[in-house]
Amino acid sequence: MDYKSVYEGKNFGIILFDEPLKLHTNFGIGGPCDVFVEPSKEDELINLIKFNKENNIETTIIGNGTNILVTDKGIRGCVIALSNNYDNIEIKEDHLIVTSGTLLSKASKLSFKNELTGMEEVSGIPGTIGGAVAMNAGAYGREMKDIIESVRLIDRSGNIVELSNQEMDFSYRHSKVFDDDLIVSSASFRLKKGNPEDINEAYKDFTYRRTSKQPLEKKSAGSTFKRPVGSFASKLIDESGLRGYSRGDCQVSEKHCGFIINNGDASFEEMDNFIKEIASIVKEKTGFILEREVKILGDL
Ligand SMILES: Cc1cc2nc3c(=O)[nH]c(=O)nc-3n(C[C@H](O)[C@H](O)[C@H](O)COP(=O)(O)OP(=O)(O)OC[C@H]3O[C@@H](n4cnc5c(N)ncnc54)[C@H](O)[C@@H]3O)c2cc1C
Repeated sequence: MDYKSVYEGKNFGIILFDEPLKLHTNFGIGGPCDVFVEPSKEDELINLIKFNKENNIETTIIGNGTNILVTDKGIRGCVIALSNNYDNIEIKEDHLIVTSGTLLSKASKLSFKNELTGMEEVSGIPGTIGGAVAMNAGAYGREMKDIIESVRLIDRSGNIVELSNQEMDFSYRHSKVFDDDLIVSSASFRLKKGNPEDINEAYKDFTYRRTSKQPLEKKSAGSTFKRPVGSFASKLIDESGLRGYSRGDCQVSEKHCGFIINNGDASFEEMDNFIKEIASIVKEKTGFILEREVKILGDL
């Protein structure tokens, strides 16, 4: 398909062609997509989804790319990036209404400025609101499901769907977004008025815990594996003797064994094989089965 002529003159936001996805993933891995669009408004997003459907163009959604591993062949069709461009925050008393491209860290900081408590634990997660809602992201005992009141989504035909917290079917690193192939447009958070000093202390504490224990400066997708029932992935990897273990540019972080990092220019195939190797060694040594948390996107 001649994508350039198909999308010519369309008002869907920023449109790029053959964009290397390694530039949009925190792992720094991933081949090109045919079309890369960054909408800035909900009507642009809806029109784009409808347009892609009418033209039989496959649509893939990404946020800040901090929980995805993209294949070397990349993604056919259209990747919609809901990130910097799709960024807005509205505060109404103890509610924060945030569009999905806004960084969770940015929304959290604004809530603290407004003396609202509830987002301290999750403020260091490096994703967007859309990615966090989809994944039911969480840290230090707090997940999206604990602070979200409702979510505004778009289905693959371009219809708006409003779901309550209950209707989102949140569970560990999962939500209805994946079951029903929905797109998060915005989310409403219900927070509480708090004491500014307590909020600041908690924020500083959680930030310190994260920066002192996680290899934030390295290319990774955070915790590679989900937490298995009855243990922790990082503990099992460490006990299997894999701290710092490497193959080419792929390595188990020395600082935090739950993080697998790309030290240079690892390919998808190398990283995928390395992740499988770590899971297989852990199974052999401990009996625990590690399930990948990182989402794989793209053509194999
Ligand atoms: C250093 C580091 C630390 C991390 N720490 C944590 C942590 O403490 N807790 C935690 O839970 N996670 C953590 N993560 C993982 C990651 O940041 C979260 O899962 C985050 O919520 C992903 O958001 P994103 O915008 O980067 O999504 P992406 O990685 O871009 O996408 C993740 C998935 O969500 C989907 N998605 C993204 N946006 C939307 C949308 N608007 N609508 C529908 N689907 C969408 C994508 O299709 C994809 O399947 C960490 C990652 C890194 C690199």
